[in-house]
Amino acid sequence: MIQLKASRCVRSLSKESQCNRCEVICPTDAIVVADNPLPSINFSACIGCGACDAVCPSEALYLDDFNATNFFFSFMEDEDNLISCRKNVPCIAALNIENIISMALLKKEIIFDMGHCDGCAIAYKCKPQIEKSHEEASYMLRAMMSESIIRMENLKYEYEKEIKESNRREFFSKVTLKNAIKTKMQFEKEIQKATDELVEHTLQKSDIALLKQKRITDRRKLFFSAIKRTQKPLLFHVIEADEMTFTSMKLLDGDKCTACQMCYRVCPSGALTSDIKNSKIDFDPFLCIKCHVCHDVCESDAISFSPTYSVKEFFEPEVHNLIKFSVRRCDECSVIFSTNSGERLCYRCKAEDEEAKELWGIKGDM
Ligand code: SF4
Ligand code: SF4
Ligand code: SF4
Repeated sequence: MIQLKASRCVRSLSKESQCNRCEVICPTDAIVVADNPLPSINFSACIGCGACDAVCPSEALYLDDFNATNFFFSFMEDEDNLISCRKNVPCIAALNIENIISMALLKKEIIFDMGHCDGCAIAYKCKPQIEKSHEEASYMLRAMMSESIIRMENLKYEYEKEIKESNRREFFSKVTLKNAIKTKMQFEKEIQKATDELVEHTLQKSDIALLKQKRITDRRKLFFSAIKRTQKPLLFHVIEADEMTFTSMKLLDGDKCTACQMCYRVCPSGALTSDIKNSKIDFDPFLCIKCHVCHDVCESDAISFSPTYSVKEFFEPEVHNLIKFSVRRCDECSVIFSTNSGERLCYRCKAEDEEAKELWGIKGDM
């Protein structure tokens, strides 16, 4: 069953966030975002396919019984290279794009078993998602000049139904009283959740501190450790940024930016940063998770995606300066603030001035 870590959902960072990727992908309509601050979950409708977990940019969703990072390591140890919903994943759509690329880079070849999709009730949403991930990952591998491939085959893998005697012994040795009680409690918890309707999520007091923490996702850490073990291409291709769902390159319109500081304060991964004086905005594509919240909070619409992305960023990452601000004291309250337009008053004094002018019907400067 799916769970939400509320403090990791980008919607908890700003009411302006438009993220609803989990709602869009869910094949059973178990997740509802609509205009709610955070996604609500109908646990009785969730079938645990994990597709929402895979598309969530910030790893806010997770399954009780499937963890993509643990799967990554066990798959790396496995000599086999087959990924199948009858073997090792709840659905192939539970795999996020970064883990797929990383596994392909390290294994040289991986196979998606698509043989069970026909006739599967959730394939109408999950199969196109798997195909999309396959296409994006294959494009990225080619752009990195890697010889690794991801094949989609109709293998219809079925695991052996016979339990070997050794496995039976192992099974019975685990049936202890302690395990039985744990299983019962887990079962009761699930039953209780399954009978609930849409469960709303709210932020707890303890979540507030977590919101301020910048976090690099586990899938990004794995991606970069896979890149480190990959042969650097002889030349770095520049690719269509539209094809990438997991990171981005930013452009910032200096004429539109008001130096409000919202974008880098809200950025959950630390891809957008400034210095102690707030005199600039830097961008590190190495860390960006393409969650879009910086675009959503920018009132002046100053941030946009670059149409291209250089593969160099994976192998020789660089921090890019997007803009520099001048830092000065407010003529009225003496507070230090950053500005991009030669403004003499800080935002607060300026806002108070404008409010007073509106109230008293005064035109022009006061
Ligand atoms: S996809 Fe993730 S970040 Fe986006 S709304 Fe759903 S839980 Fe939140
Ligand atoms: S880019 Fe937008 S959000 Fe960021 S400081 Fe400039 S105006 Fe504010
Ligand atoms: S820079 Fe990237 S990670 Fe940071 S808020 Fe923007 S899209 Fe999200």
